[in-house]
Amino acid sequence: MTAATFDLMDYDEVLEKYDPVMGLEVHVELSTNTKMFSASSANFGDEPNSNVDPVSLGLPGALPVVNAKGVEYAIKIGLALNCSIAESSRFARKNYFYPDQPKNYQISQYDEPIAYDGYLDVVLEDGTEWRVEVERAHMEEDTGKLTHLGGATGRIHGATASLVDCNRAGIPLIEIVTKPIEGAGARAPEVAKAYVAALRELVAALGVSDARMDQGSMRCDANLSLRPIGQKEFGTRTETKNINSLRSVEQAIHFEMQRQAAILADGGTIDMETRHYQESDGTTSKGRPKETAEDYRYFNDPDLPPVFAPAEWVEEIRATLPEMPWLRRARIQEEWGMKDEEMRDLVNAGALDLIIETAEHGASADEARSWWVSYLSGKANEAGVPLAELSITPEQVARIIALIGEGKLTTKLGRQAADGVIAGEGNVDKVIADRGLEVVRDDGAIEAAVDEALAANPDIVEKYRAGNTKVTGAIVGAVMKATKGKADPAQVNQLIAKKLA
Ligand code: ADP
Ligand code: MG
Repeated sequence: MTAATFDLMDYDEVLEKYDPVMGLEVHVELSTNTKMFSASSANFGDEPNSNVDPVSLGLPGALPVVNAKGVEYAIKIGLALNCSIAESSRFARKNYFYPDQPKNYQISQYDEPIAYDGYLDVVLEDGTEWRVEVERAHMEEDTGKLTHLGGATGRIHGATASLVDCNRAGIPLIEIVTKPIEGAGARAPEVAKAYVAALRELVAALGVSDARMDQGSMRCDANLSLRPIGQKEFGTRTETKNINSLRSVEQAIHFEMQRQAAILADGGTIDMETRHYQESDGTTSKGRPKETAEDYRYFNDPDLPPVFAPAEWVEEIRATLPEMPWLRRARIQEEWGMKDEEMRDLVNAGALDLIIETAEHGASADEARSWWVSYLSGKANEAGVPLAELSITPEQVARIIALIGEGKLTTKLGRQAADGVIAGEGNVDKVIADRGLEVVRDDGAIEAAVDEALAANPDIVEKYRAGNTKVTGAIVGAVMKATKGKADPAQVNQLIAKKLA
């Protein structure tokens, strides 16, 4: 398939003419042990069709049973999103045929979701707070997974055969739907990205999902429409489906703004349709025309009773909520005495959690911060990976910091130890042993090096004796060179002072 060409309007021009409106639907797979309506394992990555049962295969007569943990997790998410929790909610059947869905309907919630009317405050890169209002968070089940063979794109178009894996069918999902997000203007793509990032951080902190966008346990559908500046009614939206990275969420919105604007400005109309995002070039392509709710013939699932969430249970669950990520950040900022900008830099650099964890392994917050934001950030840049993906753990960094504190490594040797760990040479202690990085403690060897350096620099010795005791830098440098950086500078200084006293 050749890449489609698009007429795109220049982004600044889009903003002069149009006002973007977004709606984000995020699906989160819950990390329950079993499926939402049956006892099969909900594990990711198992042998295809090994986690199936009569319910998830839709066999005649099989009856679903609600997973209580799934409901509890849904309530947790609802509470964390400041939603009202429905005391009674219902499951409905969303009817449609697709080969990854053996029952021919998906169990979802329709007009009675478990959680509704909430919000999530997100912080943009420059520190601006943005409140995203949440319309609903409802429970449903995931579909199976199709693998299309023989085509160039991995999509069904052009495929010669398709494989069905029902392991994922019936895994609990929470779908979180925002109210229309208006007024973001130029920052619409950034708001979308920040919201999905905050949501991901939140569900991970709640411990209800591993929220791995790369593995599909969290996915985003991004709706976007444009309206002429000043118009009140919304324009027609497109829905870009199953976006699986934060950067792609941002790019998909950006692209749709430019694409739709070019069509509208040319007198055209936007088709209400789903679209696919192309990771490779940041464009979207036509999916299917969007059906309306009527098309799905929703009705209450007669196999499932209403879900009751009495207030006492909701309060019990509320009491188990962890410290919310943004409150934790505020607390740590205060503890560390940091300015807003400093904190934001750490967050934007993806360093905050790494620093916290390093400190939890015994390092001082200052040392931990300095390692992650300077040396290790530099290494991550060099390698072109996000800081968190650098192959060194906070625990290993804490170990290096501890060894420096004990005088067993110098900062320079510590960096070499980090290099070794990042290069995959093993843990800190193994790298130190293999590369021979410990500070030389052998007084004899260091003393000899000091003697040699003093003998080679009579002018410095003279200045020192004349009272200028700050001139020893060159001597220390020479000793460090002679010992290949393994001498302890403090010890070298002591020796120099002793010899010249
Ligand atoms: P669907 O079932 O079609 O996906 P949902 O109600 O689940 O519909 O989600 C639609 C999303 O799009 C919501 O977040 C909603 O706020 C948003 N939305 C609705 N109308 C528009 C529009 N005209 N432009 C942009 N977003 C919209
Ligand atoms: Mg939807």
